[in-house]
Amino acid sequence: MKWGQFELHLISDGNVWLDGGSMFGVVPKALWERKTTPDKQNRIRLALNCLLIQSGETNLLIDTGCGFKYTEKEIRIYRIEHETDILRELQRFEVRPEEVDFVINTHYHFDHCGGNTRLEGDQVVPTFPNATYIVRRQEYEDANHPNERTVATYFPHNWKPLQERGLLRIIDDDEEIMPGVIVVHTPGHTAGHQSVKVKSEGKTLFYIADLCPTSAHVPLPWIMGYDVFPLTTLEVRKRIYPQAAEEKWLLFFEHDPELPVGYLSKENNKYILEPDIWES
Ligand SMILES: [Zn+2]
Repeated sequence: MKWGQFELHLISDGNVWLDGGSMFGVVPKALWERKTTPDKQNRIRLALNCLLIQSGETNLLIDTGCGFKYTEKEIRIYRIEHETDILRELQRFEVRPEEVDFVINTHYHFDHCGGNTRLEGDQVVPTFPNATYIVRRQEYEDANHPNERTVATYFPHNWKPLQERGLLRIIDDDEEIMPGVIVVHTPGHTAGHQSVKVKSEGKTLFYIADLCPTSAHVPLPWIMGYDVFPLTTLEVRKRIYPQAAEEKWLLFFEHDPELPVGYLSKENNKYILEPDIWES
């Protein structure tokens, strides 16, 4: 898809299936079931939609999906489905792993950074050997010092190999990573969670990440049970949504298997989504 000066490509890493109750927090199943159908184990299908941004010779990737470093048991529990993966998808656009210049990680949950590294024999190595990988300091600290509730999703092999090779860049503030691509702190899901604004020729696409994982999560109280600070998520949504609606940002939903993009508008004091089509 052409977006001002940029070429944007949706890069899928397949799907994972997570518990529907956990995905919708305090929303009763009777309501969320109208939006998505759970499997026998009450899990719902979640896409892993990464985004490749191309500008001239520069390739920037936002998030890397869940990758392949899992045990049989983990593959079963999370129902990890790789009908495709980020490397196959990048190949479709003739981008070799060595040609990726930047990787932005919104946060270090395994389904967002698992593709940062890959297995080579029994060694874990960076998937993109020439890239600068970017993460927020708060997220980096929390991932390295997890607590009993967060430990199950933070796997150090997703970032340690980057650090050992000097590929990791830890940032403290919102920053323009390349002209028109700006990371924005959007805490709540985790304290160090960030989203990415892609601005060009008066148009803004917003990679909202887990501030709003699917189009079904647009209503303000539809907040994941996984969020570490759900009330912060609510506050941040109340700050971001009005701006997104007013300035007509195209929202990109990282986990939505059906409807990866749309525009926000307000109707009867509630936010609704006007779906759009991703033209690839
Ligand atoms: Zn997450």
